[in-house]
Amino acid sequence: MSGITDSFNGNAKPEDIAQLLKDKLGAIVSTDAQILKNHQHDWWSLSAIQDFQGKQNPLPLAVVMPESTEQVSQTLKICHDAGIKVVPFGGGSGVCGAIKAEEGVVMISMEKMTGLIDIDKQNMTATYWAGTNGMEAEKLAEKDGLTIGHWPQSIEISTVGGWIATKAAGQFSTANGNIEDMVLDIEAVLPDGTIINTKQVPRASAGFDLRQLFLGTEGMHGIVTKVSFSLREMPESSKGQAFAFDTMEDGLDAMREFVNAGWKPPVVRLYDTQETQRQFPGKCLPGKKLLVLIHEGPKDLVDVQMKNVKAICEKHKGWEKNSKIAAHWLEKRNKVPSFKELLEKGIVADTIEISATWDKIPGLYKKVMAAVNAVPGVALVGAHSSHSYRSGTNLYITFAAKPDDASKMEETYKACWEKTMQAVIEAGGSISHHHGIGRVRKDFLKDEIGEEGIELLRKIKEAIDPKGILNPGLLPAKPGNVKKPDNQPKIGK
Ligand SMILES: Cc1cc2nc3c(=O)[nH]c(=O)nc-3n(C[C@H](O)[C@H](O)[C@H](O)COP(=O)(O)OP(=O)(O)OC[C@H]3O[C@@H](n4cnc5c(N)ncnc54)[C@H](O)[C@@H]3O)c2cc1C
Repeated sequence: MSGITDSFNGNAKPEDIAQLLKDKLGAIVSTDAQILKNHQHDWWSLSAIQDFQGKQNPLPLAVVMPESTEQVSQTLKICHDAGIKVVPFGGGSGVCGAIKAEEGVVMISMEKMTGLIDIDKQNMTATYWAGTNGMEAEKLAEKDGLTIGHWPQSIEISTVGGWIATKAAGQFSTANGNIEDMVLDIEAVLPDGTIINTKQVPRASAGFDLRQLFLGTEGMHGIVTKVSFSLREMPESSKGQAFAFDTMEDGLDAMREFVNAGWKPPVVRLYDTQETQRQFPGKCLPGKKLLVLIHEGPKDLVDVQMKNVKAICEKHKGWEKNSKIAAHWLEKRNKVPSFKELLEKGIVADTIEISATWDKIPGLYKKVMAAVNAVPGVALVGAHSSHSYRSGTNLYITFAAKPDDASKMEETYKACWEKTMQAVIEAGGSISHHHGIGRVRKDFLKDEIGEEGIELLRKIKEAIDPKGILNPGLLPAKPGNVKKPDNQPKIGK
């Protein structure tokens, strides 16, 4: 039995765990009621619904706020030895329920591990502490005339470590790529406290790429403590452009053609009728679909690109609109209504992002719209495409529903998700483009990677985290092995 657990034989009471952490780690551990509440869950809409309805969900036992990699390592070692469950907490802006304080959980908040560690203009690299807020990280690069080029809508409320853990996508992705295309190297701490560093090189063929263990795995394999990005020069020119189409198919065909012709505006967003009217009121005739583009790069390239993209859009029956539409998007792009505001009006809402190859997207879009519209209480469902690739694109679906009775909020919310997931799976798309799996998609993961794929993920998890202490509960349970959650963490076992 390890020394730290000597005094804890058998089941521990929650206060024993908090006290153990305070004794071992001192002032970086908090049990302040407000701090516990602030770290109870992420931005998952279902957690907001449950809060609104007054459901008493568990609070974390404690929040640990390490200030260095060594403190993260020490914290994990203690929790590993004592079998205490821990969940990493970045900005808490995740929308899939990957952060949820189930019974006996301790949060490790990255909020004290912030700032720029190093910036290198020759190599175009910047290294940050993983808890650095996204916008702060971008501004720190911009001081040197450089940019990360990653602009998630949540840039002001998310962290660079969270971007890695959720495999995030930014609004300028069509040219700049997603987070996996920007991250050079990372430092992470494994559940037993071991510190892992990957190498800062532009590319390597040195066996399995260890960064992949942490990309998109939602804190299940380790806590990311440092992140380096490959930066870009600030663009010389940036210009907006907009087109309208009669059908989604025409807009999608135009996008597919210009992306594959080698024209890559970083921002490519095609809105269906509902989203065009909701996001750009008065800017387009009812029934039309808006395509909003931002072009960036050397001035000459931007001008040539705009001319060629216009020709392709016109070939697909699009017509050019006022470029102020793109400026309007830039200005309003990060403003979203709060869940609380909607819940107070009796409305449940969420966004669901999926992807598919070009051939499947039009059919998938129609299936999802029909399926969600059939859910009782649905008042709005619409979609836009916002991340395009040579082989396909994503759809970002927004739904809002007002059940006839407030007691049906949770049920209506779940029905909208289930119908969307079923339609996406039937149409051959991916269940997630960039928000991750968390708890909201966990039960649909088998349809993405098969039972065999899930079993492989379990084996990887067991090899890295044999005691299952790090963000447990995110992988589907083994068939026939559905265990009731263990309310009492074991200390000393
Ligand atoms: C209004 C709004 C807009 C959004 N727009 C976008 C968007 O445009 N693109 C996009 O991709 N996402 C978007 N999101 C989702 C969310 O912002 C991203 O998933 C983001 O990457 C989460 O970062 P975070 O720091 O808030 O992570 P958190 O929510 O704190 O955590 C997310 C997951 O990562 C784990 N984690 C956090 N930090 C670490 C770490 N250092 N090491 C290991 N694991 C860690 C957590 O345990 C959890 O499982 C949006 C969310 C909101 C609320």
